Amino acid sequence: MKRAIYAGSFDPVTLGHLDIIQRSAAIFDEIIVGVLVNSAKSPLFSVEERVNMLEEATKTIPNCRVISFSGLLVDFAKEMDTNVIVRGLRAVTDFEYELQIAQSNRIVAPEVDTIFLTTNIEYSYLSSSTVKEYAQYGADVTSFVPENVIPLLKAKFNTK
Ligand code: ADP
Repeated sequence: MKRAIYAGSFDPVTLGHLDIIQRSAAIFDEIIVGVLVNSAKSPLFSVEERVNMLEEATKTIPNCRVISFSGLLVDFAKEMDTNVIVRGLRAVTDFEYELQIAQSNRIVAPEVDTIFLTTNIEYSYLSSSTVKEYAQYGADVTSFVPENVIPLLKAKFNTK
């Protein structure tokens, strides 16, 4: 069974993330979505909220599991018994950073490989930060996030 990990903060999950999850689920037997507990960042949504919103958004993908983790991604990959990490690439600006991480990961864990899926052009502009920026002013974010995330953003920002 070929399993892969797709990790991130998902604060909140966007349609760009969901597109990468759906495409990974079509390539691998199982895709584990790793939700990062990052104590250095102060996320808008708690890790439980992020896990729950991802579970809801991916409920129609049977070979997808959502699990939170802290620490190094390569350690989480080993714990999950996989050596494949999936990352999404939006633009050349992502490339340098992603290359740096992938190469560092290969040094600390040579058995782990990173594969990149290029973003669907439709979502190439999308990031969780953009979503938060717009949502806090009450903008319509239906083209940015899965449907179940909309009421959660409204509740956080107390907007209509
Ligand atoms: P982090 O904040 O920890 O970097 P993100 O949740 O922003 O995590 O991103 C997780 C992964 O999703 C990364 O590989 C990133 O490149 C990818 N990603 C983010 N937004 C998009 C998008 N709109 N389309 C495709 N991939 C994306």
